Amino acid sequence: MDLAFTPEEQAFREEVRTWVRAHLPEEIAHKVRNDLRLTRDDLQRWAKILGKKGWLASGWPAQFGGPGWTAVQKHLFEEECAAACAPGVVPFGPVMVAPVIMAYGSPEQQKRFLPGIASGEVWWSQGYSEPGSGSDLASLKTRAERVGDKYIVNGQKTWTTLGQYGEWIFCLVRTSSEGKPQTGISFLLIDMKSPGVTVRPIKLLDGECEVNEVFFDNVEVPADQLIGEENKGWTYAKHLLSHERTNIAGVNRAKRELERLKRIAKTEGVWDDQRFRDQIALLEVDIVALEMLVLRVLSAEKSGKNPLDIAGLLKIKGSEIQQRYAELMMLAAGPYSLPFIEEAMEAGWQGDFPGGVVANAPLASTYFNMRKTTIYGGSNEVQRNIVAQTVLG
Ligand SMILES: Cc1cc2nc3c(=O)[nH]c(=O)nc-3n(C[C@H](O)[C@H](O)[C@H](O)COP(=O)(O)OP(=O)(O)OC[C@H]3O[C@@H](n4cnc5c(N)ncnc54)[C@H](O)[C@@H]3O)c2cc1C
Repeated sequence: MDLAFTPEEQAFREEVRTWVRAHLPEEIAHKVRNDLRLTRDDLQRWAKILGKKGWLASGWPAQFGGPGWTAVQKHLFEEECAAACAPGVVPFGPVMVAPVIMAYGSPEQQKRFLPGIASGEVWWSQGYSEPGSGSDLASLKTRAERVGDKYIVNGQKTWTTLGQYGEWIFCLVRTSSEGKPQTGISFLLIDMKSPGVTVRPIKLLDGECEVNEVFFDNVEVPADQLIGEENKGWTYAKHLLSHERTNIAGVNRAKRELERLKRIAKTEGVWDDQRFRDQIALLEVDIVALEMLVLRVLSAEKSGKNPLDIAGLLKIKGSEIQQRYAELMMLAAGPYSLPFIEEAMEAGWQGDFPGGVVANAPLASTYFNMRKTTIYGGSNEVQRNIVAQTVLG
């Protein structure tokens, strides 16, 4: 197994680095560097800049309007974006629903939906989870009844990330109660501006409204927005989840946050504490190990093996690492990592310290926010079950 990059891959990295640094707006990079609040406009502005270049759809094949990069090129692109402090791409459109539309959508659906995703114009949300149907997703109850050339949808989704901005939502809906729960599920694309759709933000313990409840009350959905065949949605849903879990590993972000942790530790004086530095070193070792695992996946992909078997493993390790760096930042900043204060988040409160280190005010908010990482995208306990069954045998 060869984990080194070729000269062509290194040249590609240089090209991406130069472009990203020239086009990423500094005010957005500043917010990412210091974990300040990113608005919808910030996220979409960067998405559109990437879209214009043809790089928002970084994992897509050329036939669907993507750059046709190899897995290694995509990895290098993501690494450079994270290192330059670009916001993470909101995955629901380009990373999650697009591969499903490519694999199972009709040519008309591909023509209708993919361009708006690739350009960053249309904001998508994910409507899988429901109250009572998270880990046990197949028990979902939101019903879609076929009436003529429409589906009538009734029910509720929950934990819909950034659904307050959503223009379209891809949903798992129940179209049959016959047989096993998995065999009665369909995959529907729903315009969130349709009459009968209500979005209600949920305020979480980090003080933000990152997730929502979405209600469907007799929502009419044209039948041509069904992906693939009725009652085959579970197969399509699983295709999508494997993409979600690889994405959640977040190794590039972890590398950037490790540097931020070191900056905070130095500013706050705990860098000189050997015990604290040991904690940072242990974290760094785990991040390097995760990176090696990601590179092994890429190497396997190059040689044509299926790497997604270990997506669950990447998700488990990646999410634990995210929680650890958030904890260590809190410890490093001590009393300066204040609990969430709305105004502090808005203003990057405390201003810039000498040496370019900013405000520790958002640290507590980040710490609370990171509690989510071991839950979303399939909880780590459930991932461990999957790894035990599919990888360990
Ligand atoms: C911040 C955030 C954002 C999210 N965004 C979205 C989104 O955009 N769209 C969407 O559809 N969903 C989203 N989710 C939902 C997420 O996928 C679910 O929360 C997750 O699948 C867990 O389901 P649950 O919350 O119903 O917990 P439950 O399934 O009720 O689990 C409760 C606890 O029991 C454990 N458990 C359950 N079953 C087992 C088992 N078989 N073995 C061992 N332990 C088990 C779990 O690990 C967990 O600790 C989001 C969640 C969060 C927290």
